[in-house]
Amino acid sequence: MLVIQENISLKNYNTFHIDAKAKFFVEVKSEDEFAELQNTEIWKEHPHFFLGGGANILFTKDFDGIIIKNAIMGKHILREENDTIFIKAGSGESWAKFVNRCVEQGYQGLENLALIPGTIGGSAVGNIGAYGTEAKDVIYEVEYLEVPSIEYRVPSTKHNETNVAPRKILRNAECKFAYRESIFKHELKNKVFITAVIFALKKVKDATPLKQAVADIVAIRKTKLPDPAQTGTAGSFFKNPTVTEKKYLELKEKYPELISFPAGELVKLAAGQLIELTGLKGYTQGNVGVSVRHALILINLGNGTGEEMM
Ligand SMILES: Cc1cc2nc3c(=O)[nH]c(=O)nc-3n(C[C@H](O)[C@H](O)[C@H](O)COP(=O)(O)OP(=O)(O)OC[C@H]3O[C@@H](n4cnc5c(N)ncnc54)[C@H](O)[C@@H]3O)c2cc1C
Repeated sequence: MLVIQENISLKNYNTFHIDAKAKFFVEVKSEDEFAELQNTEIWKEHPHFFLGGGANILFTKDFDGIIIKNAIMGKHILREENDTIFIKAGSGESWAKFVNRCVEQGYQGLENLALIPGTIGGSAVGNIGAYGTEAKDVIYEVEYLEVPSIEYRVPSTKHNETNVAPRKILRNAECKFAYRESIFKHELKNKVFITAVIFALKKVKDATPLKQAVADIVAIRKTKLPDPAQTGTAGSFFKNPTVTEKKYLELKEKYPELISFPAGELVKLAAGQLIELTGLKGYTQGNVGVSVRHALILINLGNGTGEEMM
């Protein structure tokens, strides 16, 4: 049964712990509940925003619409082909728990992505990555429902049928995955509700090395990253920028220690090092600041607002 709440604080629904308010808030546990939502007056009259674990969101103001908290759960094996196992996971499932479960079962491919907060749906939107692995390396397909923008929602007074679009699928190559990028951040931004992701993982006989790899990654992450349950943060806030060769050489002359990586005709720089060079690591202002442990991480020191963070 769908429960639409009004004037809800989002503080417990984003890892930055920003106390923004949502005019309407609804938890959706199934495609049927999403269809039910689309038959309400509130849906027809308000903009929407899909929320997973809120681990990659900075609310800069209250939201005068409906926040759809994704709670579509469930995971099951679709099929096995030789040593590849295809697993379908509901988009509202916890990413970190999914990784642990797969590793326990001896399904290889997710180990480097252990302990990343958020949901299965969020992993596809952001093409999450860590330690040389990205979600795109293991995502086979993404299932979604198309969502009409507000001007195309049929008023229920004129039309009592639900206009729910059929389920659609994007293959990996169609998702336009790139460094923390996907089609869901651009052409399909807020236009689709990702309901499930299908992963292709390798089945191995002995799960011990996978478990060890996860234990190692978790240990490293715990020393480097704040625990979002204790400290408001969304992890690395900045992407590594690319500059022209000319700009790189200028900077290198000024900062001989500059770290760089080739990126086609451009040069990629380490955003964390750039922030450290400006002396901003550990800097605080009001209720927000840059982590002392990791220059890419912005933190909420208590009652920080999204505006302060910007
Ligand atoms: C401590 C910490 C460490 C982190 N470490 C990493 C890291 O190592 N690597 C990395 O890549 N990221 C990292 N992150 C960022 C974050 O964990 C990921 O981006 C995560 O995938 C966000 O998922 P989410 O469910 O919380 O998405 P949200 O923050 O809820 O949403 C992000 C975007 O996706 C959209 N969205 C979410 N679910 C759906 C859906 N079902 N359908 C349509 N749109 C949807 C939202 O509308 C929003 O635009 C870290 C964050 C924290 C707090």
